[in-house]
Amino acid sequence: MQEKKYIGMLGGGQLGLMFVQSAQKMGEKVLVLDPDKDCPAGKIADKFINADYLDSNALEKIVENCEICTTEFENIPYKTLEKLEEKINVYPNSKALKISQNRILEKIFLKKLKIPTTNYFEINSPENLKPLEEIKDWPYILKTSTFGYDGKGQAIINNYDELLRYYKILGSENFVLEKKVDLKMEVSQVACCYEKDIILLPISENTHINNILHKSKVPASIKDNESKKIEEITICIAKNLNYKGILCVEFFISQMDDILVNEIAPRTHNSGHYSIEGCHESQFDHQVKICKNMRPVKSSLKYSSVMVNLLGELWEGKDINFDDLKKDEIFLHLYNKKIPKQGRKMGHFTVINDSVDIANQIADEVYAKLKNE
Ligand code: ADP
Ligand code: MG
Repeated sequence: MQEKKYIGMLGGGQLGLMFVQSAQKMGEKVLVLDPDKDCPAGKIADKFINADYLDSNALEKIVENCEICTTEFENIPYKTLEKLEEKINVYPNSKALKISQNRILEKIFLKKLKIPTTNYFEINSPENLKPLEEIKDWPYILKTSTFGYDGKGQAIINNYDELLRYYKILGSENFVLEKKVDLKMEVSQVACCYEKDIILLPISENTHINNILHKSKVPASIKDNESKKIEEITICIAKNLNYKGILCVEFFISQMDDILVNEIAPRTHNSGHYSIEGCHESQFDHQVKICKNMRPVKSSLKYSSVMVNLLGELWEGKDINFDDLKKDEIFLHLYNKKIPKQGRKMGHFTVINDSVDIANQIADEVYAKLKNE
């Protein structure tokens, strides 16, 4: 039998890219599968298969070459994972993926665990719309139950007529209509789930622009009792999903100080990118170590960190001069994507400092300059 020398990675986006970078740094080889031949991780992978996630030849090649397979993308068909699970180890497991890629299953799962989430109505057919005419406490947010990311498949709804309109525009069969939360803050936490231990990365405080993550600040400015509650919820979710791999839980903190789970991402997360420079081991290092059954080490924060996303619109009509980022405390990551489209994540930078306020100030200044140049 051929030696299985690769870690399998389903998905070749920027999360896959940073995983491959971590793996190669640790002397591991990665096989990436992605239907996009130009995907960022495919360009540096040790082996790249350009095929659909359900292509049986491609899955057979993964089984031949890998003892373990992981993912970077929640919308991998869970059937792909089920097929692979028959033959090799797959982290995350297909059940966890199935729940977290469907907002309704996710909310039912959280409800069973008595974990607070946003109030919502389920819409699974046009007949479910009529009773919603009674709603008085608009605004709500209409979200497709599956395949949403970076604010896609969502709309703010201010009245019943708008609901009917966006129900058609978004063109799905299954939705959740979620109460719009009066937000005080958004935070998230990455959990690195080893065979027995769960290593929690420091909680990050997240700012969004147009529903897409703009900035993550660590440490988050929350109280100790809030951190404790968030950590308990993250661990409870990971345990109840029998999770192995990397998981991120996104939280809302309301103006009333309620802590609600927004969503669960069964993968490394944009809000955890700060860990590359900010922590002793990054979320990607942990993902590699989990795949290789290595011993966990607690990932404490080395530096206060502020991460800022660089989206495609920044490139509009100009070349960008990154000279200002050539400093010891600023780390630029570009994902080698060809076309800088509106809303597309092209890269990020992280500022580290002993003071989170100074890191934040530097990050804002650098970003403002990149924007206006
Ligand atoms: P995605 O899968 O695109 O990340 P989310 O459900 O996390 O979808 O929504 C993206 C962002 O939109 C959130 O981080 C938050 O800023 C805003 N948002 C989503 N749902 C709500 C809500 N119910 N109340 C207030 N803001 C919301
Ligand atoms: Mg989200």
